[in-house]
Amino acid sequence: MNEFELIDLIRNACRQTAPAPVLGIGDDAAVFDLPVGQQAVVCTDTLIAGRHFPIHTAAADIGWKALAVNLSDLAAMGAEPRYALLALTLPNADGDWLRQFADGFSELARCHQVALIGGDTSRGALSITVTAVGTVPSGQAILRSGAGIGDYIVLTGALGQAAAALGYLLAAEAASAPVDLASAVPPPHWLQALRRPHPQVAAGLALRGLASAAIDISDGLLADLGHVLKQSACGAELVVSEIPGYGELQARLGDRRAQQCALAGGDDYQLCATVPTAHWPAVQQVFRDRGLPPLQVIGRITAATGISVIDHQCKSLVVADAGWDHFG
Ligand code: ADP
Ligand code: MG
Repeated sequence: MNEFELIDLIRNACRQTAPAPVLGIGDDAAVFDLPVGQQAVVCTDTLIAGRHFPIHTAAADIGWKALAVNLSDLAAMGAEPRYALLALTLPNADGDWLRQFADGFSELARCHQVALIGGDTSRGALSITVTAVGTVPSGQAILRSGAGIGDYIVLTGALGQAAAALGYLLAAEAASAPVDLASAVPPPHWLQALRRPHPQVAAGLALRGLASAAIDISDGLLADLGHVLKQSACGAELVVSEIPGYGELQARLGDRRAQQCALAGGDDYQLCATVPTAHWPAVQQVFRDRGLPPLQVIGRITAATGISVIDHQCKSLVVADAGWDHFG
């Protein structure tokens, strides 16, 4: 396949995932209108083979994830996703690989009504950069800088499952001795969390106008919450056992590894938001009304800086000032 056949393949696979823009793939650049009263929210993220995903990852999962990590950033801003651009660097023109990649990408694009409106294609070591465009009503994007003292810290779902699953895969890959497959297979929903993370778009929209700050968890809770705290000039107190899915991590991996995965494991793409206590009943109501899984409160924002993490018996586990480095 030549470059233009590759582009056509992607273009066809991603047809009709969403309403078409004014001008999509095929010209020097795309053109789209912004709805009146709305602002564009734009982000970009790169996935590099061997760094952001194991090299043997299925092409469809890579396609899904390349879009998912970007929609997750839009979700954290409370934005509604609309368009995506795809810059692909491929080692060779493998049509089968590309078809599967495009299937995974377009499957998620269809879920969120995202139209692919352009990109770039070149040859080199496998690397995928997606740029996503979303919209918010003017002035309503949720920023990292708005957390206030006393706010609840909430999560949309389980943390640590993707990191735990990756741990199993890397251990199996590195094992020189035959692995005991039975004990080396992670539970399917952990693998699913790693392979097909679901960007929390609906939760981000529900939090708009109610949350004081939000971030998506891509690098681990301590690191990512740390960014919110830094930009909001405050600290946090967390109870590790309140993190959704923690009990299961603990049962399978033991205390230390469970804490590591839940607090410092990346790649789950849940949202962590701060909610003023006065808004908490309204937030719970909106989540119920929209049929969204309930948020879990895992702690409070404090005036004292740094993150203090306690276990269920109020024993202090770690006080991290600079994110996950202190923990690892
Ligand atoms: P130019 O040389 O002007 O940059 P290209 O030949 O790279 O144009 O691209 C032609 C058209 O195909 C453009 O609309 C571009 O956005 C689109 N395109 C190129 N690569 C991709 C890709 N990987 N995914 C989606 N659209 C792409
Ligand atoms: Mg180009």
